[in-house]
Amino acid sequence: MDRVILHCDLNNFFASATLAGNPTLKTLPVAICGDAKKRHGIVLAKNTVAKSFGVLTAETIWEAKRKCPDLVTLPPNYKLYEELSKKVQKIYLDFSDRVEPFGIDECWVEITNPNMTLALGEEIANKIRNRVKNECGVTVSVGVSFTKTLAKLGSDIKKPDAVTVIDKSYLKNVIYKRPCSDLLLVGRSPAKTLKSMGIFTIGDLAAANETALIGKLGKNGQTLIKMARGEDTEAVKSYFEHEKPKSIGHSATAENDLTEEGEVFAAFIEFSEGICYKLRKENLLAGTVAIHTLTGDFEGREYRTPLEAPTDLSMTIAKAAMELFKKNNCLSVPLRAVGVRVVNLTEKTDAMQLSLFENADEIKAEQNLEKEILDIRNKYGDNSLKRAVCINNKAKPSSPGFYKK
Ligand SMILES: [Mg+2]
Repeated sequence: MDRVILHCDLNNFFASATLAGNPTLKTLPVAICGDAKKRHGIVLAKNTVAKSFGVLTAETIWEAKRKCPDLVTLPPNYKLYEELSKKVQKIYLDFSDRVEPFGIDECWVEITNPNMTLALGEEIANKIRNRVKNECGVTVSVGVSFTKTLAKLGSDIKKPDAVTVIDKSYLKNVIYKRPCSDLLLVGRSPAKTLKSMGIFTIGDLAAANETALIGKLGKNGQTLIKMARGEDTEAVKSYFEHEKPKSIGHSATAENDLTEEGEVFAAFIEFSEGICYKLRKENLLAGTVAIHTLTGDFEGREYRTPLEAPTDLSMTIAKAAMELFKKNNCLSVPLRAVGVRVVNLTEKTDAMQLSLFENADEIKAEQNLEKEILDIRNKYGDNSLKRAVCINNKAKPSSPGFYKK
């Protein structure tokens, strides 16, 4: 049985989400920008009016305003993006529970069943497209095909607010002529390797010699050929079978370069609190702590250290991070950004608690304290309670850092 998979990609998501909540802005040139004062003042997204003035993503606000003096600049609103993303996903879930998010603005939706066809898939795609537009005020492009890769490629072909069906003949007649880099997984480096072998189009890749490609790209070579031929068979994951994270990190760019250990520690504590909130939600313990530093010249470093015992206590993680930071003499130069990440995550079981530790009472007290802090924040909001040491933290966890949110 052939699969029927939709890939739904919200168009120009960050700008559209902002405009959906502010219809009066629709006719003005609008850009979502990082905060200029906090040194990440670049254009993160723009609407079509701003685009017509030549405003580009990733240029500085200053450059953008030179081209478009009346540009309205707005800060990103991650809470709004997340809410809207969830609202759209709820619409997808009315059609299938096999909904697999890919970033905040994309999802695969699998509707395979014995009576399903690509033509029926197209009808469903149009229903979804209309509901998203009417109920959420943003538009979506949908690709409909028999593999995840081709559905994803399809959602890129016509946009905004459009549906593209890729059946087997469309694959051979149209998609085969497109460059390999249109395929998910073909980044810059594999594209270069493929070029060196005379493989330029998806059709070239589909016809390539498998052994030669595996020789150059390893197992990935085989995966790529399968993708190009429309033979990859991966199913879309169920929305409700949640995958546990492999690492959890928080990082931030500081308002001014960090030059003192106290400043770094304040940031590490706040990051660790965020990390532990997520660890507890997932019922995980961290086995290894890593820190990340970035100098003013954008030189990045990462150091890591195993913890004595797996933990979900924020002060334990923050202290281990700080020790690692001092040991590696990280403040020999001022730092633009810092981050903490935990890896080597294991499921928390009742048996492994406390008995492992000699200072069980101390740990129990710390756990109770952290639980109470969490309860208060859940009740009265994230900013209701802060450790005194964090009040003047200059590297706010909400500002952009190294790790994908
Ligand atoms: Mg998108």
